[in-house]
Amino acid sequence: MEFDFAMRIKKLPPYLFAEIDRLKAEQTKKRVNVIDLGVGDPDTPTPSNIVEALKKAAEKKENHRYPSYMGMLKFREAAAKWYKDRFGVELDPVNEVITLIGSKEGIAHLPWAFINPGDISLVPDPAYPVYAVATKFAGGDVYKMPLKEKNGFLPDFASIPEDIAKKARILFLNYPNNPTTAEATENFYKEAIDFAKKYEILLVSDAPYTEIYYDPGKRPISLMQIKGAKDVAIEFHSLSKTYNMTGWRIGFAVGNKSAVQGLGKIKTNVDSGVFQAIQEAGIEALSGDQSGAEKNREIYRERREAFIEGLESIGLDYVKSNSTFYLWIKLPEGYSSIEFSRKILEEAGVVVTPGVGFGEYGEGYFRVSLTQSTALLKEAIDRLKNLRF
Ligand SMILES: *Cc1c(COP(=O)(O)O)cnc(C)c1O
Repeated sequence: MEFDFAMRIKKLPPYLFAEIDRLKAEQTKKRVNVIDLGVGDPDTPTPSNIVEALKKAAEKKENHRYPSYMGMLKFREAAAKWYKDRFGVELDPVNEVITLIGSKEGIAHLPWAFINPGDISLVPDPAYPVYAVATKFAGGDVYKMPLKEKNGFLPDFASIPEDIAKKARILFLNYPNNPTTAEATENFYKEAIDFAKKYEILLVSDAPYTEIYYDPGKRPISLMQIKGAKDVAIEFHSLSKTYNMTGWRIGFAVGNKSAVQGLGKIKTNVDSGVFQAIQEAGIEALSGDQSGAEKNREIYRERREAFIEGLESIGLDYVKSNSTFYLWIKLPEGYSSIEFSRKILEEAGVVVTPGVGFGEYGEGYFRVSLTQSTALLKEAIDRLKNLRF
């Protein structure tokens, strides 16, 4: 028997990467090594102090039982302390912090708590696809906010029609941004808070890349640092990118008490929290030795410099940025992002992500992820040099 899918998944947009995946499989058959610069998943291991903490915690029998729904208080205290040390933000670990099974889980569940059918989420374009899909799953509608280079890849709130703003319940932001690599300014965050207050919108900041920066003198800011943020905002933070923990599934959200509560209510009815041993390892990640995170930044810095030098020698232009492990690169004249991605996969065995995969305003660009060794990144450049664009 073959079961008919529910409308909510039937209505999902066609999987844009299916064609790339098919071509990749074809090339893999022919070539020894396809260089995959497509996925944003750290290639280096989780720092050993964190792995050791998990091993110890896994032995404790009290960790083998159901965890608490909101997360271990000790983990939430560690998250609050991390926010205080890193951003100078005071958080009440009991009411203003919640543990998540990775930040994606929290982002995907949030609209279920705050979107009624017909309500609107304001979603950037290009963007991480979860914001729009989760809104639609909850029965809401999506209004796209274009991210344009001339605006520093920040949405222009003034261009959002009044009737849309009035129906909006959630506004998603993501800085440092995937895929454009842009950062938010303090002024922009102030504007976002004012806009959210005016229209009574829950402001959502997805911030997994605040610790992936290049100039230590210009570390990315948190929305929570801005005055009034807690009145209207929740911020998602992840251990995945900072500590190479994508497979562990742990993150957290902080901020507005009712936003945290609403998310907690959904989660109580859906999941049963994060394995406590992983939360104990998370405490070690957030409050233990930070040299692993620093090492990561050095690794990405070296890779990024090597790749940028290559791009410049080829004559490809990219967005200058101080954060994330991506490069947002402009297409050469005469190609769509899909055509270009297909060409370099077929002719050079290099996988990149076509910009349009993140939304229509991503057209004109492609994304490279620096989660491969410097040697492979250099080889990718050498292969691209041999192509005619
Ligand atoms: C990686 C990523 C996340 C999710 O990370 P988790 O592993 O679920 O914590 C969320 N948002 C963006 C923009 C990302 O790139």
